[in-house]
Amino acid sequence: MAAVSPTSQPDTPRIAGDGVPESAWRRSAWLAALPALPAQAWLTGTSRVVVVSPHPDDEALGCGGLIATARAMGLPVHVVSVTDGEACYPDSPVWPAERLRTVRRRELDCALAILGVEIDAIDTLDIGDGRVAERETELAHALAPLLHTGDRVLTTWRGDGHPDHEATARAVECAAARRGAEVVQFPVWAWHWLSPGAAQTPLPGAQRLVLTPAACRAKAAALGCFVSQLHDDRPGTPDPILPPHVLERFDRDFEVVLA
Ligand SMILES: [Zn+2]
Repeated sequence: MAAVSPTSQPDTPRIAGDGVPESAWRRSAWLAALPALPAQAWLTGTSRVVVVSPHPDDEALGCGGLIATARAMGLPVHVVSVTDGEACYPDSPVWPAERLRTVRRRELDCALAILGVEIDAIDTLDIGDGRVAERETELAHALAPLLHTGDRVLTTWRGDGHPDHEATARAVECAAARRGAEVVQFPVWAWHWLSPGAAQTPLPGAQRLVLTPAACRAKAAALGCFVSQLHDDRPGTPDPILPPHVLERFDRDFEVVLA
């Protein structure tokens, strides 16, 4: 997920404060009215799923349930981790970038193992946390050979409000167009700032993919692997990126994709 640090972009007013509480999303008429179908049905006929994640945890937050569902169906899932999320605590002496890089890669491996993704199906590109937009063309070039014709490529929404998420989406669109792969985007930070009371859905083409209890349990367990992003009350530790009120937005029995 990654906080918006000075290295990424100084002006992202949408991602500030505590954001929209999940209690408000539970009352959102437009979210409740989105077309819904079981995740298994949505995945049927897919030859391979590729998830391109800007920071370790975005894949689990945005589509961890879908990944677990795909693996339970026997579908191959490949994950591309664009950055190591090493700049998420830029001012913390507890978390220098090199320590974060090592820890977050390990957390990603742990989370994906729980979701059923094997270690040799994970690629890390080390594009630079907070630097994806400036290296967008390079990212598109790096992604293209990793995609196959007919892949269903999941990534963060191009309007998500975080510069790394949006740049990753644009690079995926570019690479997928070259390879003949389908792009499906999912919101992550948008749940922080979109309006639950909007008159109609602000998410273009949004669908709710309903998860089984087993997929929900796998997703929750996977998110528990990202210990560096969770609340830590030891002295000197920074405010977490994923405090309980943020995690609550990802504790749903469905995931939303923009297809
Ligand atoms: Zn992120």
